[in-house]
Amino acid sequence: MDRRKFLLNTALASAGTMLPLNAFSNLFFRRDFSTIRRNVGVYTERGGTIGWLINDNALVAVDSQFPNSAANCIARLKERTTRKMDYLINTHHHGDHTAGNSEFKDYTEHIVAHENVPGYQMKAAENRGQEAVDAQVTADMTFAEKWSQDVGDETVHATHYGPAHTGGDSVIYFEKANIAHMGDLVFNRAYPYIDPGAGAIIENWVKVLRTAADELPSDAIYICGHGNANYGIQASKGDVLRKADFLEELLAFTQKGIDAGQSKEEIASTPVLKGFEDFQAPGWGLTLEFSINTAYDELTTS
Ligand SMILES: [Zn+2]
Repeated sequence: MDRRKFLLNTALASAGTMLPLNAFSNLFFRRDFSTIRRNVGVYTERGGTIGWLINDNALVAVDSQFPNSAANCIARLKERTTRKMDYLINTHHHGDHTAGNSEFKDYTEHIVAHENVPGYQMKAAENRGQEAVDAQVTADMTFAEKWSQDVGDETVHATHYGPAHTGGDSVIYFEKANIAHMGDLVFNRAYPYIDPGAGAIIENWVKVLRTAADELPSDAIYICGHGNANYGIQASKGDVLRKADFLEELLAFTQKGIDAGQSKEEIASTPVLKGFEDFQAPGWGLTLEFSINTAYDELTTS
C-alpha cells in the first residue's frame, strides 16, 4: 500500500462512517492552472476543483480548497490580473471546498453561497473543535434559490436545485462561456461522498442532476469537484446524466436487497454495481460500501 493510500485508509477508519471531509480531497495530486473556454478555467491541486473567471472588469473564483493550495491558486491569479477579486462562490460547505476561504478573505470583496452553507460549515467545524471553529470564514452574501450577477462581459448564476450531495449545493454557471461548476454534485465516474448529516438526499440528487442537465445547453462544459483519474474533472452532459443513473441504480439495487430481506451488510458487500464498473476509480478512497450503507439508511428512515 502506498503512503497516500495508507494515510487515507487510516483517516477513513478512524472516522468510521463520519468521513473526514478533507481525507479524500484529491488523490490525484496534480497542480494545474488552465483555461477551458472564454476566460473561464480551473485550478487543481488538493481538494475540490477551483473554477475561475478573469476578464477586464471582473475576477471570480468558485471554491477554495485548503489554505496552502488556495494561496498557490491566488498567486497564479495575481500573475494574470491586478484586479481584486469580486466574488468567491462556495458550491457547498465541505472543508475541501471552503477551508481556503481564509486565504481568499482579504483578496475578495465577497464570498457567496447558498443560505444553508454557513450553518453547515460551522456545525462541521464544531465537531472538530475550537481551533476548527476559529479557522472558518463563511459567506457574507447568501441566497435561497438563485443568485445572478453581471461580472464584466460575463454573467454568472448560482442555482440551488434542492438537497443532493448536501443540503446546500449550488451549480455555478458562467453563461457566455457556457461552463457549469458542479461542486460535488458530480464526482466524475467515482463513488461519491454523501452527507445526510448535512441534508443530503440521494433520491433528490438524481433529480437535481437531471434538472440541471436539462436546463443548461446540451454543449455546456461541466467542472466536477472531483474525478476518476482516467476521466478527469471536466465533463459533458452525458457524464452528468451518467452520475444520475449511478445514483438511481444505487437506490434501486439497495431497495431490491431490502425487499429480498437482505441485511445492510449483505447488500453492502456487493463488489460492484452492474453497469457501473467504471465508477471504481483507481486509487479512490470512497467505496461502494459507503454509498450502499448511506442509501440503505435513506431508504429505511422515513
Ligand atoms: Zn463535498
